[in-house]
Amino acid sequence: MKINKLWMLLACLAGFTSFSTAQQVSVKSPDGALDVISGLNGDTPYYSVTYNGKVLIENSPLGLKTSIGDFSTKLKFLSESRQTVEDSYTLDRAKVSKVDYKAEELTCVYENAANDTLKIIFRVSNNDLAFSYAVHPKGKKTNCLVYGENTGFKLPAYATTFITQQSPPMEGWEKTKPSYEEEYTNDEPVGNPSPNGVGYTFPALFRIGTDGWVLISETGVDSKYVGSRLGEGSKEGLYMLEFPQEGENNSIGATYAAMALPLQTPWRTITVGETLKPIVETTVPYDVVKPLYEPSQVYKMGRATWSWIVWQDNSINYEDQIKFVDLAAALNFEYVLVDNWWDATIGRDRIVDLVNYAKTKNIGILLWYNSNGYWNDAPQTPQDRMDSAPARKKEMAWLQSIGVKGLKVDFFGGDKQETMKLYEDILSDANEYGLAITFHGCTLPRGWERMYPNFVTSEAVLASENLVFRQDACDKYPFWATIYPYTRNAVAAMDFAPVFLNSRLSRTQENGTIRRTTDAFELATAVLFVSPVQHFGVTPNNLDEQPDYVLDFLRKVPAVWDETVFIDGYLGKDCVIARRSGDTWYVVAVNGEYTDKKMKVALPMLQGKEITLLYDEKDGKAGLKKVKTDKKGMIELKLSAAGGAVLFAK
Ligand code: CA
Repeated sequence: MKINKLWMLLACLAGFTSFSTAQQVSVKSPDGALDVISGLNGDTPYYSVTYNGKVLIENSPLGLKTSIGDFSTKLKFLSESRQTVEDSYTLDRAKVSKVDYKAEELTCVYENAANDTLKIIFRVSNNDLAFSYAVHPKGKKTNCLVYGENTGFKLPAYATTFITQQSPPMEGWEKTKPSYEEEYTNDEPVGNPSPNGVGYTFPALFRIGTDGWVLISETGVDSKYVGSRLGEGSKEGLYMLEFPQEGENNSIGATYAAMALPLQTPWRTITVGETLKPIVETTVPYDVVKPLYEPSQVYKMGRATWSWIVWQDNSINYEDQIKFVDLAAALNFEYVLVDNWWDATIGRDRIVDLVNYAKTKNIGILLWYNSNGYWNDAPQTPQDRMDSAPARKKEMAWLQSIGVKGLKVDFFGGDKQETMKLYEDILSDANEYGLAITFHGCTLPRGWERMYPNFVTSEAVLASENLVFRQDACDKYPFWATIYPYTRNAVAAMDFAPVFLNSRLSRTQENGTIRRTTDAFELATAVLFVSPVQHFGVTPNNLDEQPDYVLDFLRKVPAVWDETVFIDGYLGKDCVIARRSGDTWYVVAVNGEYTDKKMKVALPMLQGKEITLLYDEKDGKAGLKKVKTDKKGMIELKLSAAGGAVLFAK
């Protein structure tokens, strides 16, 4: 490692000397720790990122390639401008409810060979950089195709990766990929080829030796742009931003973005820290976006039962759904999600009866839809109701008239502008009919909790259905659960659908995959994973099998949070997170390894309080006891192999 570092240092020094420093400018975060330098390397723009004097992103290229000209080379520096950006805003469906955003903004203005203007806007808050491009044409040009970007992220060559591969198009279940359902690398060298050879999806986490952490993602992507990703990395640590693959979405739509001029692109975000704390706690996906429309009503977040996740397709019938409405009512949940084929197996008339029955128990019904269309072969119905505006509005008017509260729309398969527009159109139309929207088989939501007031959550993760499908997923799950809080769930709502209390994940429990985690681990995931509507893996038999204190925890656990504090942990090993709702703090710990362990953690928020602890009993069940921290606010947690703990107190 030391030789690598020395080599890199020499390479960096050599690199810097060849850079023109004439128009090099710098912008620092309000606390001065994060420093972004930008300028022209010859006539190509670049930037670099240092944190507390340590280089986390080395000189990396910038620029756009468009139909009106190339904005990545032959640029001339015109001017720079600066301002301080402050925004205090609230969120009602995230890991925090109130954010005071403060950033220093630097705009570098360049002119290209055609005398059109490129602005590169950098926003630097204490642990986050967001940057965006704006194009202002000189003459009467009114539209622009953005063919690609020259945006790169040059990590130090000794950086290691926690990144998740992109899928080639039209693979997976009935050609529904890419859908962000792949595994993460675990501390691999940069430049290792990905198994598919088509790069990586956001977010991408890099460990920069002992210097710190870098989380790269993007936000503010709507119908006006494509969702992007990282290409394959070079051995030196350069990852270039790439646009969608041509075959995505059944080859329908372009890989490039089409925009009216003047244009501004979405924001690329880089979150940095010496520890993982700023990564887990970042709000940058929300800091630099704005709501795109007003909510037509108050959308209530909460918890849902979901028969399909354990009982699968055979449970999508009226009688079983009544059982899951009753289960939701017994647990004080807000919703029941009725999954695929309901139109065929329950029918559109009897679904009205189900909605009315649920109403008598104060439970709302959420219904599954296929996004199809003609962009994959997924046969599940209802389909052809979400893909075009006339069909969609007619269906949504009916759903509103019978009192359905929200939809889960599945199977998208692509990040093209065409698909981003479909997400936005579904959300925007649904708001007209008072429906909240969850996406599955889908892309990463990029700031959508703030941009779209009726957006709830998205899958975009190797989710709990895999625990039901295959044993190796159950075996790996403790590991996965200690990757997601630092990666996927750090930047957006994640509908993993957690909390299983059956030992085998099947209806009869005579067959099916075998759960490897303890009950306390499972209960902890209700807090560990943030999804504003949390779909639980519990089944009606759990009511008779679990002690009252476990059921009471489920009855009260929130799904959205006022505050989130990272306490301790490391990728693939463990994670301890504290979240506050109102005046109650919940602290959860999960052990991602198959060895018992003790963790001594500081919990100042629970100091002096009588804490309820759900802990691992020897048989894997959750025990209950009252505990206190010591005088310094410290407490030792004992976690079984693949175990966990839940602590809460007012
Ligand atoms: Ca899925």
